[in-house]
Amino acid sequence: ARNINAGCSPQQAQAKSNIRCSSVVREVERLKEQREQRRARQAEVRLQKTALRRQDPGNPNWEVSVMLRKYRESISFSPLRSLDPNGAAVQQITVCVRKRPMSRRELKMKNVDIITVPTHDSLIVHEFRHKVDLTKFLEHHRFRFDYTFDEQCSNALVYDHTARPLIRTMFEGGNATCFAYGQTGSGKTHTMGGEFCGKVQDCRGGIYAMAARDVFEEVSRPEYRQMGAKITCSFFEIYGSKVFDLLHPEKPLLRVLEDGRQQVVVVGLTEMPVTKVEDVLRLIELGNRERTSGQTSANAKSSRSHAVFQMALHLPDSWGPFGKCSFVDLAGNERGADTQSADRQTRIEGAEINKSLLALKECIRALSRQCHHLPFRGSKLTQVLRDSFIGGKKNRTCMIAMISPALTCVENTLNTLRYADRVKELVACKDDDG
Ligand code: ADP
Ligand code: MG
Repeated sequence: ARNINAGCSPQQAQAKSNIRCSSVVREVERLKEQREQRRARQAEVRLQKTALRRQDPGNPNWEVSVMLRKYRESISFSPLRSLDPNGAAVQQITVCVRKRPMSRRELKMKNVDIITVPTHDSLIVHEFRHKVDLTKFLEHHRFRFDYTFDEQCSNALVYDHTARPLIRTMFEGGNATCFAYGQTGSGKTHTMGGEFCGKVQDCRGGIYAMAARDVFEEVSRPEYRQMGAKITCSFFEIYGSKVFDLLHPEKPLLRVLEDGRQQVVVVGLTEMPVTKVEDVLRLIELGNRERTSGQTSANAKSSRSHAVFQMALHLPDSWGPFGKCSFVDLAGNERGADTQSADRQTRIEGAEINKSLLALKECIRALSRQCHHLPFRGSKLTQVLRDSFIGGKKNRTCMIAMISPALTCVENTLNTLRYADRVKELVACKDDDG
């Protein structure tokens, strides 16, 4: 090595060495200081974590809760709150999402609400994940729909933005169809049929009843009265590929046929004439009772069938109904477990449900594109609802995707949202919250 002190006097060399020495010492001290600061910070974080854990003892999900709280504090909220007296803009296809509140059981189990609904048309799913080095983080999945309803939205508010704008379709000679889609326990029946009070359902507050109210309001207008317009109701269930009449005391198995005019007919389906809302409520109660009766538990059974409630407008000189409204409480879309089930019947049923939900998605997409080829024969559900998908601009459809807020349901929730997203592809919203 070259002597760097070459050409210096001994005093100069000593001075240089002192300078070097002191700079090394300074560097060592700086590093030491940094280390101490780092340790102090870590200790503080540890202390904070302990304090947080103490605040929420026994909560295995406390870290997600903390991350979520911080995230939510950092964004602004303007969720949907008001009823829209003029009715929402009528689109041919509307796709909405409704988040239900956490259940008492979920709260007790310290489950975490991982869904944020910041605005009337956007929603974020916070997925809890681990990096390779095991540090924890939240992945934010952002979605956009026509409307997003948070846990505080009532059935009436949901109705106003979803099914209500569709009612007049029936009076314009078209078919309106409203679907409740989602995993079992996400709130499909609550939304369609009304709030549960224990095991009893108050069907006056469901979409079926609210729609009936609006249908009678319209049909009681003088022009329809003079014409002699009549309303009928049907309520049936599709279980596997079988169709059962829910308004018939023996709940008979019905056949679905296509007639010479390519009209799909459910042979022998009860079409009950109704003249007031109370008539409809009685039929809904009767149908609900039929739907949930049987050997297996009520929920297990109803979660594996599609329930279709229809109101039809008949004018004296028109062949068949002039227009129709259909409300469909779909079978639960959680089917992963079925594919591994040991029970052959369960596997077959699960496959049939999957098939029908896929066919449904394709039919709605075909409707939006005014396609002439409709894959409606893909399942009994789409076959029975064929009229909803043909007829071009006259027909309108609305899908309400129901989701659970719970951390433990994240996989099903993401599946539901991705399905709804595919039914109507809207541009994802811009990230504006970092
Ligand atoms: P699904 O029909 O999708 O299986 P349900 O409608 O039966 O689900 O709802 C499951 C449970 O959650 C029920 O006890 C219901 O009362 C409750 N629930 C669903 N949605 C809501 C809501 N928006 N507000 C309050 N409770 C709800
Ligand atoms: Mg249900």
